[in-house]
Amino acid sequence: MHNDVFTNAISRLEHANQYAKLPHEVIDRLKRPRTTIEVTVPLRMDDGSLKLFHGYRVRHNDMRGPTKGGLRYHPQVDIAEVKALAFWMTCKCALLNLPFGGAKGGIQVNPKELSRLELERLSRNFIGEIADFIGPDLDIPAPDVYTNERIMGWMMDEYSKIKRFKTPAVITGKPISLGGSLGRNDATGRGAYYCIKELEKLNHWHPEKITVAIQGFGNAGQHAASLLHADGYKVVAISDSRGGIYNPQGFDIPSIIHIKNETKQVQAVYCSGSVCETVAADQVSNAELLELEVDILIPAALENQITADNAQQIKAKHIIEIANGPIAVEADPILLDKNIIVIPDILANAGGVTVSYYEWVQNRSGYYWPEDEVHSKLQQAMRREFYNVQHEVKEHNIDWRTAAYVLAIKRLGEAMQAHGTREYFMGG
Ligand code: GLU
Repeated sequence: MHNDVFTNAISRLEHANQYAKLPHEVIDRLKRPRTTIEVTVPLRMDDGSLKLFHGYRVRHNDMRGPTKGGLRYHPQVDIAEVKALAFWMTCKCALLNLPFGGAKGGIQVNPKELSRLELERLSRNFIGEIADFIGPDLDIPAPDVYTNERIMGWMMDEYSKIKRFKTPAVITGKPISLGGSLGRNDATGRGAYYCIKELEKLNHWHPEKITVAIQGFGNAGQHAASLLHADGYKVVAISDSRGGIYNPQGFDIPSIIHIKNETKQVQAVYCSGSVCETVAADQVSNAELLELEVDILIPAALENQITADNAQQIKAKHIIEIANGPIAVEADPILLDKNIIVIPDILANAGGVTVSYYEWVQNRSGYYWPEDEVHSKLQQAMRREFYNVQHEVKEHNIDWRTAAYVLAIKRLGEAMQAHGTREYFMGG
């Protein structure tokens, strides 16, 4: 039987601890989430009928601060997935040195099947169910797969109604007009882009010669594509949940985003003004996209896309994990053997939670920053931790993922040791 996604995720801890060498109780603690909540979310449908949905919130670890992490609406959400995602948030926040622990939540639902009013009622009801377990100093949700700033706005409003005072800092990724931060919307894609810019320097890349394939064209995938395209990178393949397109000459990304947002599909188009025409492109499946002959592969969709079954066929020399957990544990050694550099999720997609932290700081101080300040703080943070991870890579001669975990668990270990460990209480 296959292990579940959480069991797989925590199996990377032991491996990283061969280098971090932390007391075993630190690792044992990280293998167990602190609190797991499962709720039933009732929804009165537009036709008057009642539907019930499974909702989850997992607070994985809060040694370094209140817990932080997104809420996902997806038919495949289950407790094992939410636990894994919460664990990754703990590691991600530690890696970026944010004063947060990790959490995650979600509802098992296909939001595309709901009307807007149903979606709003579902989101508000979910907050009603978990309101006692979240809060600006306790646990702070944010957007994730198939949730967005409008949903965050409804949730903040519902929480504020329950508490009877305005609490913008209870949730991040809100609309700007409700206390959101400038620069939050594109922060995940932008953080990944900053990692690629550092790789560009290390490898002396000329962007116009570098080809990129992106699996997943949601918020993060779209913004990474736009920023890379604007720098001259050739984005040659893109896909969303319905399938993908490939053209070795590269695509005009702004026009594809324009059409995707109008038709909800990725199509190769050329736009001038508002007139768009479809241009030639090969259709590729999500699975085929991963195996294309490109320089950079960016999985930006869901977990477990690259597994022991297809890792051998991957041709890209660099993989930037914008999704959480897109590479299964069994694929790690195969990719390593092929000398593929993987910039792991907990570093590559950490831009989102980093700007969430800035949003939380702005909400609590009541003072809002200009966009360029957000960008430059994000760039500094990404660059700093990129090179801190590289330092571990060199010091231990290990891959980037292991190095990122070494750094993250060292910081978690410091916080736990500051609380007191066996070594402190018993000596030795
Ligand atoms: N859902 C995003 C992530 O996986 C952002 C979380 C946040 O901003 O708290 O990192």
